[in-house]
Amino acid sequence: MKRVQKNRSKFLTKFLAWFVATWFTIGIIAISISQCSVSDTSDRTNQKRDHVKTQQIELMHKKCAQVPLPKKERLTAKQTLRVHDLIKTHPIEEIRTMFFTKILNGNVCLGQRIYGEDDALFKPIPAISNYVPFLFVRDSILSTRREWLAQLVIYHEYVHYKHWLEGRLGNDTMEQEKIEVVSHEERMDHCKKIWYTEFEAYQKECVLAWELGTAARLAFCSIDQNSHTFPLIEKHIVDTHRWSETCANVWHGLVGSD
Ligand SMILES: [Zn+2]
Repeated sequence: MKRVQKNRSKFLTKFLAWFVATWFTIGIIAISISQCSVSDTSDRTNQKRDHVKTQQIELMHKKCAQVPLPKKERLTAKQTLRVHDLIKTHPIEEIRTMFFTKILNGNVCLGQRIYGEDDALFKPIPAISNYVPFLFVRDSILSTRREWLAQLVIYHEYVHYKHWLEGRLGNDTMEQEKIEVVSHEERMDHCKKIWYTEFEAYQKECVLAWELGTAARLAFCSIDQNSHTFPLIEKHIVDTHRWSETCANVWHGLVGSD
């Protein structure tokens, strides 16, 4: 009798162990399957969201697409999303709000900077009945991991956009080929406009760079502790600006006059 009881309890223990092990395995399998399907679903949701975003962008930029611009100067959907991200998370509030709305409404268009050596360019492009403001950004700036640099570059061009709105930069004064056919006075006037607007854009860029704690990484933003000015900006403009050669004489007379 004792032996029968012993066998029965041995059988029960074995059965219990098998039961627990089986359900444990079933549990593990069920959890993995559910996790797989969750990640599949979230992948699909992300893809769907990206697709909707791209469609929205295409719609928003319909106005911009009507502006005659070579295809190579157009941004891809991915690059456009990147500019949107940089603008809607920009440290300057009016860029996050007003400027971003203008871009979403197609009142400011985006393009890819492929010429020259500058990281970005603000330029109004002639369309059917008016000039459309364009912000051109180089791909290296869109793909940089130095987010702060991209934000500073965008800020600099935004300052030029405001110059244009205020009439301090004109529609057609920025085309290099035209400079040869205009009078000496017009050329002088244009070079002066470029000088003062560039100086202001760099100055604002440096103030933001100091606020972001990244000024030390831009040589032209070094500060003179006594005068609280940025003494290297003028040299930076003379050394790097695409108008340097044409405007050399005018700028020479303006150095130190800011
Ligand atoms: Zn500039």
